[in-house]
Amino acid sequence: MQARLNQNLMEAIERIEKARIAVDRHRIVRIIAVSKYSTKEEIAALYACGQRAFGENKVQDLKEKSQLLESLPLEWHFIGSLQNNKINALLSLNPFMLQSLHSLELAEQLQKRLQKENKTLQTLLQINSAKEESKSGFMPEIAFDMYLRIQESCPNLKLCGLMSIGAHTDNQIEIQKSFETTQKIFESLQNKGAEVLSMGMSGDFELAIACGSNCVRLGSTLFK
Ligand SMILES: *Cc1c(COP(=O)(O)O)cnc(C)c1O
Repeated sequence: MQARLNQNLMEAIERIEKARIAVDRHRIVRIIAVSKYSTKEEIAALYACGQRAFGENKVQDLKEKSQLLESLPLEWHFIGSLQNNKINALLSLNPFMLQSLHSLELAEQLQKRLQKENKTLQTLLQINSAKEESKSGFMPEIAFDMYLRIQESCPNLKLCGLMSIGAHTDNQIEIQKSFETTQKIFESLQNKGAEVLSMGMSGDFELAIACGSNCVRLGSTLFK
């Protein structure tokens, strides 16, 4: 298993590097290994290959896997749609980052809880860049203002940038457009402290990197 995962990781790194060097020799692109369909043994094996950052989209799964793998210095990213009634459970796990801040209400609820516990949480604002009903996130038109508003009113949420999922289609032009929409918002926020642009999954990460991504979330291509 370890040899297979190592091979997958090396192939992904090679493809990322190729895509990155084509557009930007100075950017560093991070990999979040999305382990939502993977076992703790697979996560431990990928860790042994050098991977540190992992992503889960359900609080219960994050809890189980992070506790089972407690002895490893893993960096956990929450990438799913967080419901208000799971806020306490998520915060008690002290994740490295919440990549999917999708509403003002959620921001305010998190702020309340974080303030009470005297904690902070690194966060990315999720953008619904293709305006899909099936996805959560802020609409592109309001994202800039919301970023500043949350930065001001929720000081315990440390906004570090943006996250978006590419348009759900096979049409490369549409996917590219959705990435470019998020890229523009990210660029407008760079002098407001936005550093992370999390875009790209197994099927579209090279295109995402061409559109400025510096953080790709890879599941199926790493754990196949
Ligand atoms: C599942 C998931 C991924 C990884 O998807 P793959 O296509 O398996 O690489 C990335 N981001 C989010 C938000 C996800 O839910």
